[in-house]
Amino acid sequence: MGTIIDVKEIVKNKKEELKVRIEKLRQNQVIPKLAVILASNDSASRVYVGNKRKLCQELNVLEEEYILDENVTNEDLISLISRLNEDKSVDGILVQLPLYPHLDESRILNTIIPSKDVDGFHPYNLGKLVIGEDTIVSCTPKGVMTILDSLGMDLAGKNAVVIGRSRIVGKPMAQLLLARNATVTVCHSKTKNLEEYTKKADILVVAIGKPHFIHQAMVKEGACVIDVGINRVDGKLKGDVDTQDVLEKVKYITSVPGGVGLTTVVSLIENLVEIAEKRI
Ligand code: NDP
Repeated sequence: MGTIIDVKEIVKNKKEELKVRIEKLRQNQVIPKLAVILASNDSASRVYVGNKRKLCQELNVLEEEYILDENVTNEDLISLISRLNEDKSVDGILVQLPLYPHLDESRILNTIIPSKDVDGFHPYNLGKLVIGEDTIVSCTPKGVMTILDSLGMDLAGKNAVVIGRSRIVGKPMAQLLLARNATVTVCHSKTKNLEEYTKKADILVVAIGKPHFIHQAMVKEGACVIDVGINRVDGKLKGDVDTQDVLEKVKYITSVPGGVGLTTVVSLIENLVEIAEKRI
């Protein structure tokens, strides 16, 4: 019988560490500030922005929000981001996705100056990640690494399988695991015989967006399974992994809710603090 990883405890420790760093910044007259842009009617996005606001308040960092209505144009957003790029009091700029459908996501994300790209989505930061240079890393994969590190696991030579290849989760996740010398396989919707890969995974990271897609027969005995998926089913949150089914066979697993989602938001503040620390 495996263990459900206590992500709450991991997050608690991370917050304590961040509080110390934020206090040190304050002693140097630096108060980190996050600018959040919401340009959609998506209800989940509003919840996510609310969670970010709450954590900023808890950790004593500044947060300002720009809530834009449906009439906003690409040019409006680009000029707002350009202004925030210039504003020396702003450390991180976050554009909550998804955007209103008429907006050009790539163009807008690419307008954020890489040094304030607190989400790590800019091609410059993704490129630095690929070549193994120190950079701002996308929050969800960064949070997954925090979870793996808390288990004290040596990833070198381990078979790591990532399912999903999005710009925000799968691709940066694979790069982070590769940087730790894992042998990494990336699977996606065109992968044939997915089970053949997942059954060999010492570390399986699942970021598909399909509720309870991964079941016991698909995992390796003693594996560590990280469930990134967040799916709303009948008003309840479900991951991409059938946790109870898989738990019998694996060593570690994260739950949904109470898993990766908790580390994602803390990683955002960690990125913000890292950026602000460059001011001193
Ligand atoms: P995307 O929809 O951008 O990507 C999904 C990926 O899954 C794609 O690469 C797709 O392949 C792949 N995929 C889809 N179906 C299958 C299948 N049957 N077999 C194998 N691969 C498949 O999603 P995101 O990466 O943005 O998010 C993934 C999940 O993680 C979602 O549930 C999302 O809500 C959640 N999420 C959770 C976060 C957290 O903080 N916990 C943060 C961000 C996301 P292809 O490329 O071929 O289409």
